[in-house]
Amino acid sequence: MKKVVVLGGGVGGSVVANHLAKKAKRGDCKITVVDEDGKHVYQPGFLYVTLGKQSPAKLVRNERTLLKRSVDMVTSRAERIDPGERTVHLAGGKKLDYDYLVIATGSTLHPEQVPGFEGAHHFYSLEGSIGLRNALMKFNGGDVVVAVGGVPYKCPPAPAESACLLDYYFTKRGIRDKVNLKFLSPLGRVFPLESLDPLVTEVFKQKNVETTIFFNIESIDPKSKKVESLEGETVNYDLLIAIPPHSGADVVIDSGLGDRGGWIPTDRHSLLAKGHGDIYVVGDATDIPISKAGATAHYEGLVVGDNIAARLNGQSPPDNYDGKVTCFCDAGFHKGIMMTFDYENPPVPPPLNRRHYLGKMMINRLYWMLIPKARV
Ligand SMILES: Cc1cc2nc3c(=O)[nH]c(=O)nc-3n(C[C@H](O)[C@H](O)[C@H](O)COP(=O)(O)OP(=O)(O)OC[C@H]3O[C@@H](n4cnc5c(N)ncnc54)[C@H](O)[C@@H]3O)c2cc1C
Repeated sequence: MKKVVVLGGGVGGSVVANHLAKKAKRGDCKITVVDEDGKHVYQPGFLYVTLGKQSPAKLVRNERTLLKRSVDMVTSRAERIDPGERTVHLAGGKKLDYDYLVIATGSTLHPEQVPGFEGAHHFYSLEGSIGLRNALMKFNGGDVVVAVGGVPYKCPPAPAESACLLDYYFTKRGIRDKVNLKFLSPLGRVFPLESLDPLVTEVFKQKNVETTIFFNIESIDPKSKKVESLEGETVNYDLLIAIPPHSGADVVIDSGLGDRGGWIPTDRHSLLAKGHGDIYVVGDATDIPISKAGATAHYEGLVVGDNIAARLNGQSPPDNYDGKVTCFCDAGFHKGIMMTFDYENPPVPPPLNRRHYLGKMMINRLYWMLIPKARV
């Protein structure tokens, strides 16, 4: 029986494991998911935690409860991958052998890479979101700055979504006229997806969100409440929300499998790690230049599950990942946008409407039932 080890029990890891368990013939393989804390976190909910609209506890589930019974689960930190030996070394000295390895270890946050980051809040972890929620509750007016601390980062639309939702939040609290909302982008445009930039720029104009492009954060001075850019600009803040720099997971870096950022060079169609015929990569962990998003991890996970099932059966892999991503964004005031795109087709600017807002709410509600269990 072939051994399939899946590193990471987040979106991508769960989808691969459950989809493969459905597709593979009984007795063909033993699937083991390894996750360092055994917890699966629904990260899109962090935005709503910051606004006091989402209970943090409901965003976390025990990964074991999301996996099919035939899938084994090991709660342990993977410390090193040895592709020559086809072995994963776990904390405490244990080892797992594999015939196929799937790396779905997501991204790691590095606030420590920005001097003075302790002066900022963020919503890219559960703890960070709770801290930001508490700070917002006490906030009664001044300069609120949303800044992106480095590229790539997961969910490229999330910072812009946050700015839109803050406009809504302060309006509902009756203090919008006391708040200056500012948005700092490291890129030469406001929104990372080029075809949508004019739409988002227009939305920001309507919502009175001041924007600065080419602002790469160099440091934060929590005492004087200033954020400085590599380009030499300084912006004052009363409340700073900064997206921490990201990298790939330590285990990828420590195993020599990553590029400079710790992202794994990955074939964008087969999703095999380049130079490795038995290691697949899904989700944030790849170096593929598309959105690092749960939707990406989900679609990639289905392709990898199909391909491993076919190879176990002696067939050639039937599926190619075409770069498909579908994602809903909340623009505040019960309006949203939906973006669908792939390698060949960039997203077309969609209308802002209530239907897409409801789409986002529906996914937030149905996530646990549908996505990790690979039911869609
Ligand atoms: C605020 C916010 C909003 C977002 N909104 C959206 C959205 O609306 N739509 C969307 O599609 N995406 C969204 N995302 C992005 C999405 O959550 C991620 O892109 C997605 O979770 C990536 O899936 P993954 O499987 O690659 O990694 P993850 O889901 O992060 O899972 C990685 C897993 O690997 C485990 N792991 C890491 N290292 C090790 C190790 N050494 N040993 C064992 N286990 C390890 C971790 O414990 C974790 O469980 C959002 C993210 C944030 C932060």
